[in-house]
Amino acid sequence: MDGLEDSIMSGLWMAGMGHGMHGAGGQSAASSARAISAENLARESQEGIRELRHQVERLSLLNQALWELIRDKAGLTDADLSRMAEEIDMRDGKADGKMDGGAVTCPTCHRVSNAKHYKCMYCGELFAKPAFG
Ligand SMILES: [Zn+2]
Repeated sequence: MDGLEDSIMSGLWMAGMGHGMHGAGGQSAASSARAISAENLARESQEGIRELRHQVERLSLLNQALWELIRDKAGLTDADLSRMAEEIDMRDGKADGKMDGGAVTCPTCHRVSNAKHYKCMYCGELFAKPAFG
C-alpha cells in the first residue's frame, strides 16, 4: 500500500514539477515573444520615420524648386515669400510657423472645435473667417 501511495505521490509531484517547468517555459516564451514584438514595433517605427523624413526632404526640394521657378518667372523676391508666409501663418491668429490653428473655443456654446472648420461643430456658430481661407 505504502509503495503504491509513494508511487502516486511521486507521480503527482513529478506531474506538478513537469507542469511547473512547463509553466515557467511558457512564461519565458511569452516574454520573449513580447520582446520580439517590441523589437518589430521599434523597427517598423524607425522605417516609418525614415520614410517620412525622405518624403519631407523630397517635398522641401520640390517646394524650393517651385518657389525659385515662380520667383524668377514672376519677378518676385524672397521678401515677397516671407511676407506671404507670415500672412498665412497669422490666418489662425497665431504666429507659430504653422497653418493649423488647432482648437478654438466656441464663443456661444463654449465647446471646443477645430479652428480649420470655421464653424462650431456643436452649435453651428460661424467663427471669424480669414481673408484668404
Ligand atoms: Zn458652439
